[in-house]
Amino acid sequence: MRPEILFSLFKPVITLKGIGPRIALFIGKLSGANVIDLCWHLPNGIIDRRYAPTISEAQAGVIATLTVRVLTHRKPANRRMPYKVICEDDTGRIELVFFHAHEDFLRKNLPEGEIRVVSGKLEHFGNGLQITHPDHMGTLEEIDRLKTVEAVYPLTAGLTLKTLSKAVAGALEQLPQLPEWIDPSLVAREKWAPWRPALLAVHNPQSEEGLLPNTSVRRRLAYDELLANQLALAIMRREMRKIRGRSYTGRGALTLAITKHLAFELTQAQKSALSEIAADMSSENRMLRLLQGDVGSGKTVVALLAMAAAIESDAQAVLMAPTEVLARQHMATILPLAEKVGLKVVILTGRDKGKTRRETLAKLASGDAHIAIGTHALFQEDIVFKDLGMAVIDEQHRFGVHQRLQLAAKGVGVDVLVMTATPIPRTLTLTAYGDMDVSRLMEKPAGRKPVDTRVLPLERMADVISAIGRSLRAKAKVFWICPLVEESEKIDLAAAEDRHQQLVQIFGDQVGLIHGRMKAPEKDAAMAAFRDGDSKVLVATTVIEVGVDVPDATVLIIEHAERFGLAQLHQLRGRIGRSDQTSTCLLLYAQPLGETAKARLKIMRESDDGFRIAEEDLKLRGAGELLGTRQSGLPEFRLADMAVHGDLLAIARDDATLFLHHDPQLESDRGQAIRTLLYLFSCDSAVRNLRSG
Ligand code: ADP
Ligand code: MG
Repeated sequence: MRPEILFSLFKPVITLKGIGPRIALFIGKLSGANVIDLCWHLPNGIIDRRYAPTISEAQAGVIATLTVRVLTHRKPANRRMPYKVICEDDTGRIELVFFHAHEDFLRKNLPEGEIRVVSGKLEHFGNGLQITHPDHMGTLEEIDRLKTVEAVYPLTAGLTLKTLSKAVAGALEQLPQLPEWIDPSLVAREKWAPWRPALLAVHNPQSEEGLLPNTSVRRRLAYDELLANQLALAIMRREMRKIRGRSYTGRGALTLAITKHLAFELTQAQKSALSEIAADMSSENRMLRLLQGDVGSGKTVVALLAMAAAIESDAQAVLMAPTEVLARQHMATILPLAEKVGLKVVILTGRDKGKTRRETLAKLASGDAHIAIGTHALFQEDIVFKDLGMAVIDEQHRFGVHQRLQLAAKGVGVDVLVMTATPIPRTLTLTAYGDMDVSRLMEKPAGRKPVDTRVLPLERMADVISAIGRSLRAKAKVFWICPLVEESEKIDLAAAEDRHQQLVQIFGDQVGLIHGRMKAPEKDAAMAAFRDGDSKVLVATTVIEVGVDVPDATVLIIEHAERFGLAQLHQLRGRIGRSDQTSTCLLLYAQPLGETAKARLKIMRESDDGFRIAEEDLKLRGAGELLGTRQSGLPEFRLADMAVHGDLLAIARDDATLFLHHDPQLESDRGQAIRTLLYLFSCDSAVRNLRSG
């Protein structure tokens, strides 16, 4: 249960004074629904109101705070004209300008003959100065409150800075004093402020520098978040490891048999990954291994051989893919090899219902099926294995830690191999997997030719289309990826359909279409037609899933490449360059290109190395965005920025490990404080894994 001290922070923002349902809705979209989310909505700019010149020194175009005497109110002849208030100081005059003014309000705030302090942006008007709608007006006593630096926050349509700032201030009033959870020696070394003052300081920047992520207070808050993340992972992992693994004793006859049927030699990288996996499997500890390999590096075969090793010791194995298309594709790859060595493979996805599903389930329960390939459907409760020993999870960055645990719970001491094609940099691997063991396939199968990547403006569409014509005559297969419009799947779709229409008019019925709104069988049919060569051009929205394998596709067109993240571009490009033919990737962009987009496309042109691309991406974008989407499953940090706070992650990991070693159930004083930290970052399930106390 969440400790009482945090209750005020987990109330919805609508409970704050002055926030009604409409504003609450906007804030919910912008930062999150609770008070704590608002506290974590950090400023990204400042307004400096400390400039307080006399009127004659004042410069137009900047924000200033002026002390003036109010002379006269000049009411306009009609409502369309502005209301003006003329003011002066000893050096000159200035006009305050108001549209749609309320006279009473202005007369009350700016009484004629009185001294007032006003703050706002100075503008030239004729040869005089004016301020249109001053941001603040107050008495001379209030000058200290007005002549300050104000934080500016990221906003959303419907919210003004004034409203949001008030809401944030209201939220910050709710901040409790929390006990210190960071190791005292670290606090001393870094000279960190306690949590509450640190958070208040972040919202009260005194200069542009105060906004940077490497200030002491920002680092402290980032560390809190990383520490919570590392503790939660460590606790989860500890729970997983508590269950002993099984030690497999197979001699490798089955794996050897499969290897003999492969059309190729395993790469050195595949061999060493396999021997690491074999070592895990023969040991008594559970395997928790991440198999990281760039697109096309050949992870599927490694998975199959690992599964075979488990099956040889009479266990069953599952291979889980994030989508139906990928599950079917794994089935297509694995089934022929499995059959040759007498292994029975079944597939189970959301599409399987009724009798087929019952039969499949029966085979899993009786042990008749050795391997189950499928999607989320494999998590369902009524699915029982006779003896599940190995779970392979492909492209798992879409699955959360929980789901991994759920799957592993379907057997006793299930070994887990997680495969990811996303080249997550080391720093990020830690945040997503903690200390999971990692095998990397750094080498690509021999004979692959690098992809020739070119970057062109969309205006050259006609050239692109004639190049496609030439490629088709040379028997190439072409993937054509259509623009990604994040807000609207509908627009996505319309664009893809239009492009498809246009290409059909030019190239006839050898042009296929696949998109996310299609039913699964239609998608399969479109994929199959392309794989079998019935269609030669496949126009797609981004449903061209990571992992789709059509080795003889050699041309890839990406429209509006500037809208894609680097990692995503790299994944997409991995669809080609899978054969010994030269492949070409054309990245089409709309002008004008922003700096970041330009840098991204340049990296794509220069590099084919997924890890380098991921590191560059991290530099360009910051970790939360790295994988392009929210569903990435990588933790999205609110306060930590992996491009800047990477050093803190290692410290957090070491501290988490060490602390849990001393106080496994978080019972000491610091342990209690750490529980609060975990709840603060909504890692409730990690705390629930502890003995209650
Ligand atoms: P990914 O790592 O992207 O999942 P896949 O497992 O889909 O890669 O493999 C990509 C392609 O490379 C497949 O067609 C597979 O049969 C082939 N492949 C795998 N290993 C080798 C190898 N050692 N030599 C040649 N081709 C290989
Ligand atoms: Mg794959």
